[in-house]
This record gives sequence, C-alpha cells and structure tokens, in this order.
Amino acid sequence: MAKSIGTVDILVDSCKGCELCIPVCPPKVLVMSKAVNAIGFRYPELRDGCTGCELCAEICPDYCFEVFRGRAAEAGEVSA
Ligand code: SF4
Ligand code: SF4
Repeated sequence: MAKSIGTVDILVDSCKGCELCIPVCPPKVLVMSKAVNAIGFRYPELRDGCTGCELCAEICPDYCFEVFRGRAAEAGEVSA
C-alpha cells in the first residue's frame, strides 16, 4: 500500500455539504458521509492516500480543511 504524504483535518461541523471538495481531490480520497453533522449536512470523510495537494482547502467555501504534509502529516496519521 502506498504511504500517504499528506493528511487533512476536516472541521466537520462547519461543512454545508456542497460537495465541491469531492471531485476536486486528485486521488479521490474524499467521500461524503452517510451521517450528518450538527447543522444537518453530510460532510466529507478522508480515505487513505491524501497527497497534501491543498485543492480541497482552496475550493471549500467554509474553510473546513487544514492540510498537513510530510512529517506533520505522518505525526497526525493514526488511521489507515
Ligand atoms: S489535500 Fe489534496 S489529496 Fe488531500 S484530501 Fe485534499 S484534495 Fe485530496
Ligand atoms: S467543500 Fe467544504 S463545505 Fe463543501 S462539502 Fe466539502 S468540506 Fe463541506
């Protein structure tokens, strides 16, 4: 399995469910949740393989993403 070199923190409760982040992610590692957040919207969940490209953070109108790359990403990487 390829090692991720990036990761993102997602501010789930700020998400308005617009889904703009889903198609913009080059490795397609963002998928919309089945659950809803505190304000009733589905939100993106991260799968393995983020490259840290920051395109999700650039497109999100609600500033839901914080992107980490390299050692910072590895330090925060607790899930597969
Ligand atoms: S940083 Fe890039 S690869 Fe990672 S989730 Fe965002 S768009 Fe996808
Ligand atoms: S772009 Fe932002 S507001 Fe839209 S679904 Fe993605 S995280 Fe939520």
